[in-house]
Amino acid sequence: MLKAFIKRFIVEKLPAGVVLLYHRITEKDEKDLYKIKVSLKNFEEQIEVIKKFACPLEDIFCPKPKGKVLLTFDDGYKDNFDYAKKILEKHGVGAVFFITTGFLGKKYSWYDKLEEIFLTGKIKKNFSLEIDEKTTLEIELEKDDEIDVLPPFTYSKPFEKISNRKLNLKKSELFALLYRKIKYSKNPDEIFEKVKKSISDDDEDEMDGRNYMIEDEVAELGKNFLIGAHTETHRTLSILEEREQESEMLISAIKLEKICNRKIELFAYPFGLKEDFNEKTLELAKRIFKFSFTGIKGQVYFLTPRNQIPRFAVMNWNGEIFEKKLIDFFFERKREL
Ligand SMILES: [Zn+2]
Repeated sequence: MLKAFIKRFIVEKLPAGVVLLYHRITEKDEKDLYKIKVSLKNFEEQIEVIKKFACPLEDIFCPKPKGKVLLTFDDGYKDNFDYAKKILEKHGVGAVFFITTGFLGKKYSWYDKLEEIFLTGKIKKNFSLEIDEKTTLEIELEKDDEIDVLPPFTYSKPFEKISNRKLNLKKSELFALLYRKIKYSKNPDEIFEKVKKSISDDDEDEMDGRNYMIEDEVAELGKNFLIGAHTETHRTLSILEEREQESEMLISAIKLEKICNRKIELFAYPFGLKEDFNEKTLELAKRIFKFSFTGIKGQVYFLTPRNQIPRFAVMNWNGEIFEKKLIDFFFERKREL
């Protein structure tokens, strides 16, 4: 009884640590509509700040010492291998890399390509967009409008409830509308191809190189770092049947076990916000993996459920700003996005 009391009211109240969420480390500052790119220079400054506090995965839950930090990277971008790996090794900092196995060796994902279309600005001014079988929207873009840099997931306008068939939109509103439409479909690649045809005349593929790691790079990364699963296709799990959710988790774990030649016990929910997974997802993750991470902000405590470990997304901040943000991460009140 007393032990339970101590656990509940003393240990639980002290944040044991925070888990940081990274996606891309880029050679230089780059335009970034999702706010997921950290430049190499800023990344190294950030690592200088946290290297004393970085801890192994299981220690993040221990109440003492306080102020521990765990680094994680999502999606399996090639720049993680090219840039992040070297800097982490140089400073002796560990990390977990969550890999979307269906993206291995791919040039880009639908969300990379969507961003590129908006950054290069090759979008028609007027076009029809099929929202579902019954609804086609006539969209007109506002003249001389530049896209702003708010990430699409921060837009609160309920685009799903559009009743007006004719819409006059800003580019950033259109970006958010399309992002949500594709993200919440069961076949995002197919929907993206349709969207691309509707909004852009340009068929040229201007992206060179590839954005995602190949199997050998993941195997190499796995020698010094922890590797976790991030599903096979990076679809939103909450809209999938239980069986589909299960195979998304199992396929990625099995492929990674083969690539890394070890058991895969870690998982990160794609997109990771509250609306992106459900009770079934949490149950499956608990059964299949030892630790599963969300993208919901929050500190880690001794009693944090191991299938709902919160994380704070890191942006392209220099060392000085990052230090302040990190302090905020530790003291920010628990809240959900
Ligand atoms: Zn992801």
